[in-house]
Amino acid sequence: MLVLVVNAGSSSLKSQLIETEGKVTRMKCLAEKVGTDQAYMTISFAPDFAKVTYNVADMSVAQCLRKLLDVMTDDPESPISGLGQIDAVGNRIVAGGEYFTKAALIDDEARANLDKCEELAPLHNPAADACIDMLRELMPDTPQVAVFDTAFHTTMPPKAYMYPLPWQYYEEYHIRRYGAHGTSHRYAAQQAANLLGRPLRDLGLITCHLGNGGSITAVNHGKSIDTTMGFTPLEGLMMGTRSGSIDPAIVTYIMRREGKTFDDMDEILNKESGIAGISGVGGDMRDVLEAADAGNRRAELAIDMYVYKIQKAIGSYYAAMTRTDAVVMTAGIGENSAKLRERIFAGLAHMGMILDKERNDFTGQIGANRIISIDDSPIRICVVTTDEEMRIARETDNLVSQIH
Ligand code: ADP
Repeated sequence: MLVLVVNAGSSSLKSQLIETEGKVTRMKCLAEKVGTDQAYMTISFAPDFAKVTYNVADMSVAQCLRKLLDVMTDDPESPISGLGQIDAVGNRIVAGGEYFTKAALIDDEARANLDKCEELAPLHNPAADACIDMLRELMPDTPQVAVFDTAFHTTMPPKAYMYPLPWQYYEEYHIRRYGAHGTSHRYAAQQAANLLGRPLRDLGLITCHLGNGGSITAVNHGKSIDTTMGFTPLEGLMMGTRSGSIDPAIVTYIMRREGKTFDDMDEILNKESGIAGISGVGGDMRDVLEAADAGNRRAELAIDMYVYKIQKAIGSYYAAMTRTDAVVMTAGIGENSAKLRERIFAGLAHMGMILDKERNDFTGQIGANRIISIDDSPIRICVVTTDEEMRIARETDNLVSQIH
């Protein structure tokens, strides 16, 4: 099945065209800084994936997707010449609330429920929904599937997902912890079980998805029992531009002191805080590491805080589970930064998570899943390469195959 995977973010678009039978990627697209005058989009086709860059200044995420479809149907390098050749579309949706406990085919009812989820991830869901609507209009006969970041976490028990707030807010507004990055945590857990050569249902794993956004999940016997992201993807770890958990009273304090509006606070907490807010050099970890190496003290503090919050989250999930067999690192920072992994686990050796420096530093086989702890480490440490688009394509194939 030829699946177009659409991963729409607040200011980015990632897309791939995937042949699910052989797990072959035929097209890759990445648009960044979308919505600004510096926005650009790169598109490349198999087999050589030579990138061509397009100017998409001031376009919305859905308009970038429209442009991608034009390129895909016009470019002689493209594996398709018409949109009818795409069998299905798989959309990554950040928040599915209590409406979606698993991936769903997007019919009218599902589309209406997606609207209700928008306020749970105001930065991400609206962009994804706009893409879905554009595709439904353009390709009405092509089935679309929504794959939710929240679905994996629907196994959390009430003690983990409830907030200690007046009961009415749960009943009236469904305010509870939903978590995110579920597809990635599920995959990381399964890959770690493969690496350990044991069934997932026998293991206790702590999965760490550390990218621009970041979350950590306690996966007990294959099920998510707790996760750091909450009602929205703002809670939990310190992230690229998101504050993560802070004293909630700070929000009302700043609003009163500076006359900030609700929208101002959304912007401050989601886009101006986290690593960017502390370092002053932006939220991209590579830039921050470079600045710290050059002696920038705020960048160094940002890294210190980032590492400390991850250590505390890993420690708390060690306490939450009945056993911990491995900690799994994935996503941009988790996969690629040996330096940060070293700093994180330097503080966790006393809990039995002992890194092997050589294995950690080894970069010869980029992309390979591997164990990076010493042989005798009571708790193993694994690195797993996340491939979100491939997993969305496979889930889409599964669901669409059932209706045919
Ligand atoms: P997203 O959450 O947008 O999918 P990614 O998983 O691609 O993000 O992660 C992006 C983050 O990973 C950025 O902060 C980037 O700087 C960081 N990153 C990528 N490679 C490295 C590296 N070699 N060292 C440190 N950080 C890295």
